[in-house]
Amino acid sequence: MLIEPGTETTEGVMRILASIGSNKVNWKFPPLDLLGVGGMLRRNGIEDFVILDALNQGFTHQYTKEQIEKEKPELVVFTFTNYTIKNDMKVATLTKEVSPDIKTIAVNFAAESYPGTILKDFPDLDFLAYHDPEYPTLDLIREDYKPENVKGIYYRENGTIKKNREKTLENLDEIGIPPHDKLPINIYCSPYQLRSPMSATSFTRGCINMCTHCIGSRYLSLKKGGHPKGGHVRIKSHESCLEELHLLQSLGVKELRFFDGELTADMDWAEELFERMVKEKIDMTFSCNVRADTVREDLLWKMKKAGAHLVSMGIDSANQEVLDNMKKNLTVQQITDAVKMIKKVGLRLTTYTTFGHKGETKETMLDTINYIKEVNPDLCSFSLVVPVIGTEFYDYLKKNKLLDESAPLEAYDPNLPPVYSLPTISSKEMYETAMYGYRSFYFRPRYIVRRLFTTNHLWNDVKYMIFCIQRYILEPLTKGSAVP
Ligand code: SF4
Repeated sequence: MLIEPGTETTEGVMRILASIGSNKVNWKFPPLDLLGVGGMLRRNGIEDFVILDALNQGFTHQYTKEQIEKEKPELVVFTFTNYTIKNDMKVATLTKEVSPDIKTIAVNFAAESYPGTILKDFPDLDFLAYHDPEYPTLDLIREDYKPENVKGIYYRENGTIKKNREKTLENLDEIGIPPHDKLPINIYCSPYQLRSPMSATSFTRGCINMCTHCIGSRYLSLKKGGHPKGGHVRIKSHESCLEELHLLQSLGVKELRFFDGELTADMDWAEELFERMVKEKIDMTFSCNVRADTVREDLLWKMKKAGAHLVSMGIDSANQEVLDNMKKNLTVQQITDAVKMIKKVGLRLTTYTTFGHKGETKETMLDTINYIKEVNPDLCSFSLVVPVIGTEFYDYLKKNKLLDESAPLEAYDPNLPPVYSLPTISSKEMYETAMYGYRSFYFRPRYIVRRLFTTNHLWNDVKYMIFCIQRYILEPLTKGSAVP
């Protein structure tokens, strides 16, 4: 039984592919990590499993327990993040309450970023998969839960905690086709979808780059330096991608969110994907992530022809020094050129900004906010960098004693005041300026009017506005000044 744990927070959380923190907007994405595990099980002849998406269906822990009682599985696989670990590990406890014989394995690509020893802190957990979750889960079942020969896991043996080395998963086709048919199709949504029902997937793992703070590239790239920019990307074959798209289409899915670091990491591969989507009559509108150096105008036209209506791009800073400090490997000019190209092709744009990199000041933040307002994307986020163990940024903070080591794990949220201050700006100032960024972007009359005239989901947008007022005006009033 595969479980995406429920949560008691109202705004929901992100656990997909090493994402962290509370939701910035009212979106719901299917549990892609569990879909990977499910694909691997199905590909190897194991069909007798269910996926319970308690998070997105709003199921309580009590309901989850009842479902475990009903299913009586031999193994419960569940996702977690550091930020929500106390909540998520309740799944292991509930499972053991149902029956101590049911085995439990927790999966998280970035499990090793936990500041401690998970199996010590959570005794109801039997196994921990620390990178790609697919082979550890399959091999545990194949080995009849004897962990000695199962690669990629932590386990207990005679009171000590052991770690087996990893089994490299370079060929993502080995994962098989994610079993979307085992999930409800009508519950997933995002504020920028054009059509319903919506779902999500990813065809790649990793990023071509290795920004100093990035949990995704650090823990999904598998190895450092495979790409000249410093990162590494694993990519599925076109055959595998098309097979999954046909499955989604047969289920009635009309809109797709690609959850890749950048779907266009290999531009030639992406070009062929878009051509084949057209040729094989995949009737789905979609959105995806790109980097400013993984777009070409001809590629964007092909992407649009294949169904794309929106791309999301990291504009982490409009200050070149900050970009260089975070090793973004991009210039502000490259970002500006990519924005122009995206607009020329007629794709909508959402942007990600991360504040709090080395060298950040209030001025660099305000310059970036003004730059984003000039770019005028359809949606934007102003996150605060979360220091993650294993990243260069975390090491920098630690070495310079800038980290508040007493902060609880729940404080490691990109939407909360950072758990560190920089020599150039305090945590409080960073948070207040980021919240100002949201208010000054979203509450512009020009933006509201544009949104009202271009929306396909007026009710969704009204809900989103209520969410924004709560998150970016009312919450900051309780956590710090609302005035920058
Ligand atoms: S470009 Fe984005 S996904 Fe890639 S390393 Fe940087 S932050 Fe991570």
